[in-house]
Amino acid sequence: TPGSAEPTFTAPGTLTPVVTDMWDKQRSWTLDAYRDAGGYQGLARAKTMSAGELVDLVKASNLRGRGGAGFPTGLKWSFLPAPDGLPRYLVVNADESEPGTCKDMPTLMANPHALVEGVAITSRAIGADRAFVYVRGEVAHAYRRLLHAIHDATDAGLLDDGFGLDGQQPLKIVAHAGAGAYICGEETALLDSLEGRRGHPRLRPPFPAVQGLYARPTVINNVETISSVPGVLTRGAAWYSSMGTERSKGHGLFSVTGHVVNPGQFEAPFGITMRELIELAGGMRPGHKLKFWVPGGSSTPIFGPEELDVPLDYESVIGAGSLLGTRALQVFDDTVSVVRVVSRWTEFYQHESCGKCTPCREGTYWMRQIMTRLEAGQGRPGDVEKLEDIAANISGRSFCALGDAAATPIASGIKRFRSEFEAGYTTPAAELFPPAASSIV
Ligand code: NAD
Ligand code: SF4
Repeated sequence: TPGSAEPTFTAPGTLTPVVTDMWDKQRSWTLDAYRDAGGYQGLARAKTMSAGELVDLVKASNLRGRGGAGFPTGLKWSFLPAPDGLPRYLVVNADESEPGTCKDMPTLMANPHALVEGVAITSRAIGADRAFVYVRGEVAHAYRRLLHAIHDATDAGLLDDGFGLDGQQPLKIVAHAGAGAYICGEETALLDSLEGRRGHPRLRPPFPAVQGLYARPTVINNVETISSVPGVLTRGAAWYSSMGTERSKGHGLFSVTGHVVNPGQFEAPFGITMRELIELAGGMRPGHKLKFWVPGGSSTPIFGPEELDVPLDYESVIGAGSLLGTRALQVFDDTVSVVRVVSRWTEFYQHESCGKCTPCREGTYWMRQIMTRLEAGQGRPGDVEKLEDIAANISGRSFCALGDAAATPIASGIKRFRSEFEAGYTTPAAELFPPAASSIV
């Protein structure tokens, strides 16, 4: 947590504070503090390099997108078509809203200049002189802090030149506050919203790299991805790719929440395990055992104690049957009703479904109805099979990833805890798992 004391427990895994390095420093969010810690040296180096050299450096680092999908960052930048004299844009996705995901907002609060510097370096690499940061609107304090950081960096002359197609223009960074729709974190809905329309996902391809904001080539990257770029510039691609596993290189923020003693952000190389992270978080709360956890937010299939030693890298987690996603590691102990948890997530997805496509719009509504009655102990025989059928028909048939995300907790919850779902035909979840016992510490 920004401003909190240094962790006092002994780390079994290796922590690598890079993006989080400043978090516990006095007034870490100010330009002076950032510069005292070596900030903006990456940008200075970037200004001595050509756009192509910058793209090659980030490719060599093997930095992958930290918004959840893990797409190779340098490769994405290289997809931009050759310059045609017209603008191209950088858009940063700061609309963090996946349930459990809580890494980008603390980064913006504690270290906004890492993002501003990353935006400047990336803009130079792609020939942009306009960049937009789309911030989750509800988090007004993070938005304000970013505004201050942009203002201070601009005022200090750091963005005066070195950008645009000719590499000589000033850079204008616009912070835009969203209006609270989860779907606007989907990159193409975000673009619609930024253009002033209702946020609805667009058909891909064309991908934003080819046709994005105002139908111009656009790079869209997550806050953590862009905030990791200055470190690659100052310490080098070899340093970055020396961390992690064979295909998931570097460090990342692992957000451990739920029934652990010290929930928090742990920045570590990819490949750390959940067992190590739970130990770093002080262990499970006293007197309770781990029941289930998710590796990357509510849209990733549920894991149990059996998966505690799976290396948390993109490939190993897929191999074990889930997705690493946003590394929002939510931990639930033996006091928790899986039906109640899945019901809350389903409610969320139904509420946030944008309504553009039928499988998701209708399916999330039906799934919510059934989950509500199962939670109340008023389920009907056959409800569990019905849920499985609906989830299977949403998955892979929806227009964007939200549909799949909504189906995932239902399908994986039933797979692991079928009897608990079937208990909902007769017994309320609150009776099986009294809510008071499961309150999150
Ligand atoms: P995706 O795999 O479709 O795309 C990932 C990125 O790569 C996109 O920027 C896309 O434009 C680019 N890309 C992919 N193929 C490309 C190609 N052929 N050419 C050019 N660019 C290409 O994933 P997605 O649907 O954008 O995102 C899904 C992820 O979002 C999930 O993994 C989930 O974890 C995450 N997510 C995050 C949050 C959050 O709050 N951070 C919320 C919901 C979901
Ligand atoms: Fe909208 Fe859901 Fe369809 Fe995505 S899957 S386009 S959120 S209705």
